[in-house]
Amino acid sequence: MIDRATVDRILDAVRIEEVVGDYVSLRRRGVNLVGNCPFHDEKTPSFHVSPAKGICKCFGCGKGGNSVNFIMEAEQLSYVEALKVLAKKYGIEVKEKELTPEELTQQNERESLLIVSEWAAGYFNRMLTHSDEGKAIAMSYFLERGFNESIIEKFQLGYCLDQKDGMTRAAIAAGYKEEFLIKTGLTIAGDGYKNDRFRGRVMFPIHSLSGKPIAFGGRVLKTSDKTAKYLNSPESELYHKSKIVYGIYHARKDIVKHDRCFLVEGYTDVLSMHQAGIENVVASSGTALTTDQIRLIRRFTTNITVLYDGDFAGIKASLRGIDLILEEGMDVRVLLLPDGEDPDSFAKKNSATALRAYITDNETDFIRFKAQLLADESKNDPIGRARLISDVVKSISLIPDEIKRTVFLKESSRIFEIGEQVLYSEMSKIQQKRAAEIPMQRPVQSQNISANAGSPTMVEPPRDIVRPVPLEEIEVLKYLIRYGGLPLYGPEDLPEGQENPNVDVVIVGSLDEDDMKFTNGLAQQIYEEYKLQMVNEGFEPEKYFLRHENPAVCMFVAGLFADDKKLSRSKVNDEVRNVPRHLFKIVPKVIFELKDQYVKTMQKAILDELTGCTDEDEQMRLLGELQQLNAIKTQLSARLGGRTITR
Ligand SMILES: [Zn+2]
Repeated sequence: MIDRATVDRILDAVRIEEVVGDYVSLRRRGVNLVGNCPFHDEKTPSFHVSPAKGICKCFGCGKGGNSVNFIMEAEQLSYVEALKVLAKKYGIEVKEKELTPEELTQQNERESLLIVSEWAAGYFNRMLTHSDEGKAIAMSYFLERGFNESIIEKFQLGYCLDQKDGMTRAAIAAGYKEEFLIKTGLTIAGDGYKNDRFRGRVMFPIHSLSGKPIAFGGRVLKTSDKTAKYLNSPESELYHKSKIVYGIYHARKDIVKHDRCFLVEGYTDVLSMHQAGIENVVASSGTALTTDQIRLIRRFTTNITVLYDGDFAGIKASLRGIDLILEEGMDVRVLLLPDGEDPDSFAKKNSATALRAYITDNETDFIRFKAQLLADESKNDPIGRARLISDVVKSISLIPDEIKRTVFLKESSRIFEIGEQVLYSEMSKIQQKRAAEIPMQRPVQSQNISANAGSPTMVEPPRDIVRPVPLEEIEVLKYLIRYGGLPLYGPEDLPEGQENPNVDVVIVGSLDEDDMKFTNGLAQQIYEEYKLQMVNEGFEPEKYFLRHENPAVCMFVAGLFADDKKLSRSKVNDEVRNVPRHLFKIVPKVIFELKDQYVKTMQKAILDELTGCTDEDEQMRLLGELQQLNAIKTQLSARLGGRTITR
C-alpha cells in the first residue's frame, strides 16, 4: 500500500509525454503528440498524448488513460506496481502505508518466503553454472537438449546438488531461517532430519506475474530413479498452483502484442518456443487447466491456441479442461503437431517465422477439432456416437456468444451428418438442465433498469466493451464535473432572496430526490464517486478523475473536457473557455433531459414486457406502472416550466 500523499507526489511529477515517450516515438501535432500505438499493430499513428490533460488514448483500439494506466497496460502491472515504476523513474521515495500488526505479520511472512525463494533460484543457478557437479551433469543435460545459455539465464534455470541437505545447509549458513525453507517446501523436515526436496534435479523456477520466483519444478536426471520425473513445490502462502501458469511473466507483453496466448504442457515446451522466437506462450505445467489459470490469461488476451502433440490419449484427457476456456467466453484454437513431435522438439527444428506460418496454416477451431476427432473415433461405434455428439453439443452450449453457438451447431450438423434441428433441441435440453442446477436469479424488474456494473476492481480494469453512454448522462456528468463547483446563478442573474447553491448541489439534490440511476455502469460509478468526494474540502473533480486508477474513468472524463474530436485543449484555453453564462437555465434543462430519457427507457421496458405478457393481473400491474410514468413525465415538464427544480 502506498499512502495518498506519495501517490499525489508521483502523479504531480509524471509527464505523460515522457512516460509514453519511453515506448513510442512521438511527434507533435497541435497541442497534442501522436505516435504509433504500442498496444496494437498499425502503420498510421492513432495514439494521441495530451500533455495538458496528462492522458493518452488510442483512437484505433481505445486503450489509454493516465500515466499509471499506461504503465499498467504497457508492462502488464497492477496499479500499485505501476506507481512504483513511475516513482523510480522520477526518483520519488515511496512511503508505504503503515500496516496493522496482523497485516504486517502476514506481509512479513510472504516477504520472507519471497526472499528465500529468490535466494534459492540464485543458488540453484550458481550450482548449475559454477559447480563442477552442476556443469558436468545438469548444464550438459540442458545443452544436449539444445537450450542455449541465454535461455538458461532468462528463465533462471538451475540445479540442486545431489546431496542430502546441501542447499538447506547453504541457506542456513547464508542466514535464512529454517522456518521459511520448510514453508516454501525447499526443505523437507522430519524427525531429526532436514533434507533438500529437489536433490539431484535440474530446476525450473516458477515466476509470479511480476517476475519473482515463487515455486520450483525439478526434473530428475538419473533414469534409474524411481521417483517422479517432475517434482513441484508444494502449495504455500506464495504459490497456488491452480492460479499461476508457467512462463506468464516472460510472455505477458507478447501475449498482449499478438492478442493470443499459446498453451503448451511442459516447462521445456515454453523454453523451446522462446528460443525459437515465439514468446507468447505459457504452460499449465502438468496440472489440469483451471478456471483461475484461464482468467489469468484472459487479463491479457481472449484468444488461446492449444498446442498438442499427436498423442491421442493425451488430447482426449485434456478436452474437458478446454471446455473451461470456452465457458470463460474465450476463443480457443487447436494445433495438432505432426506425428511424433511435441512443441519442444518441433520448435527446435523450425525458425520463428516457419513456426508461426505452420501454426497459422494448421490451427483449427476447437469445436471443429473436437467434433472431427470424436466423429473419426466413433465411426464404427453407433452406440458411442450419440454420447459423443451430445458431448460436442455440450461444449458448444458453454459458449456465451449466441452467434458463435449457431455457427458451430451448423458446422457440427455437417460433420456428424445430423439435422441441425436435432442438435438444437439437444442443446436446449442441456441448457435447461444446467439452468436447473444454477440457483435461480431474481428476474430483472422494470424499475431496476440501471446497469450498474459496480466498481471495477483496482488491479483488473474491465476489458469488456461498455455500452455506449447515453448522451443525456454524458451531459449531466459534464456539468457536474466541469461546473459543479460554480454557483448556479451569476452575480447579475440572482433573484432577490433566492439562495445560490453550487451546480453540483443542485444536480445531486435533484437526481437523488427521484432516486435516479444512470443506466450506464461507468457513468453511475463516476456519479457515486463524485457524491462521496464533493464533501471534501479542496475536491477538484477534473484532477481527481483524470488521475483515477480506472483508465475507463480517466478517458471518459477527459472526453467531457474535449471539444469535438480533439482530445483536449491547452491549459490556457481551458481557463479562458467560456463558462456558460446561464447555468441556472441550462442545468435544470440538462437534468430534465436525463430524467425524461430515463422515463422513456422505463416506458419502453414496460411496453416490451407487456408484449410478451399473457397473465391478466400482470398486465394490469404493468399498465398501472405505465400510467404512473406518464404522470411523472407531465410533472417533470411542469417543474421545468416553473423553474422550481432546485426546491
Ligand atoms: Zn491502439
